[in-house]
Amino acid sequence: MRYAEMNWPDIEALDRDTLLLLTVSPMEEHGPHLPVGTDLFVAQAVEERIMVSLEGEHPMVALPPLPLGTCRMAADFPGSLSLPWKVVRDVVGHTLESLAGQGFTRAMLLTFHMDLHHVKALHAAMARIRRSGLTACEPLSAYYFRGILLPPVDGETEVHADLRETSLALVLFPELVHGHEHLTPVHIHMDGPSALFKTMKEMGAERGYVGDPSRASREYGQRCLEQVTQVCVQAARALLAGEEIPRLPSRIRLLLRLI
Ligand SMILES: [Zn+2]
Repeated sequence: MRYAEMNWPDIEALDRDTLLLLTVSPMEEHGPHLPVGTDLFVAQAVEERIMVSLEGEHPMVALPPLPLGTCRMAADFPGSLSLPWKVVRDVVGHTLESLAGQGFTRAMLLTFHMDLHHVKALHAAMARIRRSGLTACEPLSAYYFRGILLPPVDGETEVHADLRETSLALVLFPELVHGHEHLTPVHIHMDGPSALFKTMKEMGAERGYVGDPSRASREYGQRCLEQVTQVCVQAARALLAGEEIPRLPSRIRLLLRLI
């Protein structure tokens, strides 16, 4: 079910442990070959697959997607719309608070955008509403930063608008992918401290991608989609059972406190 299509008596009649799904990803440049809505489109596709996988098992409602977030790493490109992380925290936090006020107890945030300030905003919003009785999780970043969100790829660093995202796009919105096969690889290691303070362009990604989109394939994209859906379905089951939900690795939790 979709929240935006329901009337208030429908919403009042929902079980209070209905799983609420909320996609939150900004418009962000994704190289010259992918649309700025890439992260939002991928997260929405994952949301749809979660709903299909859990249909009949538990009531679920998809909230309207929030097409916003923080994208400092790509803020110096045309197309990127970056909000301060505290604004994102407040929009998401108050949205969840409003749902908690209606008595809802379970929510899952979905983002395919791994900018650390964006992740910080979502996790700060979830922490803020914990005492209100609504438990929320955001599984994609937890698996991403553990390196187990997507099937492994050979070779160099794949980071942004890369082999992985381009493969997903070839499965989900091929009509919006243009000329990836002609792009030369751009490999920049973005684990170091400079990644916290510099944009991708400043680190050398002049065309807005880091990785090798020319190697993208529908076959790999399909495997990515299946794996991402599977980890989210597992996380949803854990959340609904009151079990441990995936957490960010401790090194990322520390970084989020520092930035
Ligand atoms: Zn992306």
